[in-house]
Amino acid sequence: MELNREIKLLAYSLVFIFISSSANAQRCDTYEYHKKYPVTNSLLNSRSAEATKPARDTNANEVIIIPVVIHVLYNNGTQNISDAQILSQLQSLNNDYRQLNTDVSNIPAAFAPLSADAKIVFCLAKIDAGGKATTGIIRKYTSEQSWTADDGMKYSAQGGDNAWDSKRYLNIWVCNLFGRSLGYSSLPGSQADRDGVVIQYNVFGTTGILTAPFNKGRTLTHEIGHWLGLKHIWGDANCGDDGIADTPPQQNFNNGCPSFPHKTSCSINGSGDMFMNFMDLTDDACMHMFSKGQAVKMRSMFAIGGARNSFLNSTVCDSNSVQRAAAIDPVATKTTISLFPNPAIKFINLESKNASDIIGQTVTVCNVYGGVVISQILLTQKTTITIQQLPAGIYFLKIGEGKEIKTIRFVKE
Ligand SMILES: [Zn+2]
Repeated sequence: MELNREIKLLAYSLVFIFISSSANAQRCDTYEYHKKYPVTNSLLNSRSAEATKPARDTNANEVIIIPVVIHVLYNNGTQNISDAQILSQLQSLNNDYRQLNTDVSNIPAAFAPLSADAKIVFCLAKIDAGGKATTGIIRKYTSEQSWTADDGMKYSAQGGDNAWDSKRYLNIWVCNLFGRSLGYSSLPGSQADRDGVVIQYNVFGTTGILTAPFNKGRTLTHEIGHWLGLKHIWGDANCGDDGIADTPPQQNFNNGCPSFPHKTSCSINGSGDMFMNFMDLTDDACMHMFSKGQAVKMRSMFAIGGARNSFLNSTVCDSNSVQRAAAIDPVATKTTISLFPNPAIKFINLESKNASDIIGQTVTVCNVYGGVVISQILLTQKTTITIQQLPAGIYFLKIGEGKEIKTIRFVKE
């Protein structure tokens, strides 16, 4: 795919100089899409099995888990991206939403204190819409060579693949989008069968078939920001407002990799644009953060009455969810994380009966001197961690954060 992005963008910005929103169609079609398919709130009113459970609210430090289903639609072998590529996307996505992306160190000092851990994580669904086991990845051949941003890929009857219950699953369609569009998203409250995110196959993930400079998984990070109610940081208008207090007003989108500070007549101070925000349109390697205000906004979607509240009751990443449905006593389902074997030589396994106890949690392994030797996010109910590189001795595995932290001692032989 040819990527004369800057040239095309320049042409767009000349033609639509007072309608700056049209230019963002290059990378992200969400704004244009939303004008075509306005929110009807049907999602908020629809009923499903999950909706019959009592609604609950989020709590401040809760890590919110969003089960995803990936619909890979391919017309040739290249478009049928590998599992490894899909997993690399989930990893980078989770890093970005948990502020574990290593490039946070590139945020200019003026903006670094505003960078947030949104405490939202994404896992591949383990249970399908019919209650059967699934990998969370659907692969489907399509005779369509490319798709436009009008949702054909969301319907089996049009050569695409139907959405799974959007109250429990975030549907992500990976396919070949027409032209230079890299992705788009529905907004909270949109029609249930259109609800989800569409991403161009070769900007999905951090390893595999990828096109620079969109090769660090940030297109999905950005589109899910829309799915969780965020606007573009320039508010899709000249000196527009995104409704978030801690993101400065911005004249227009940025692309490429600007140098700090990038100031315009809209800038409120010398720091200029927050162009390293995931909701701008800069290159993947140059976007590093959500702001604290954006994190609050996204998490508000999960509050009682919020468009994504039903996800707090979604247990489809939990392979034991059938059993759990019967055991609703919260005491009976209290944390039960097990580590085995212990002592261990090459690897340890971490497992929990409850996916919510373990998925999305950060695990660190410390040696007896308190040094962190391993740190990672758990993405599945059972995770194997390699320890053969560690010297023999006693180690402490810590899982969770703050008051919720749990420590397990183990021996490496
Ligand atoms: Zn966008």
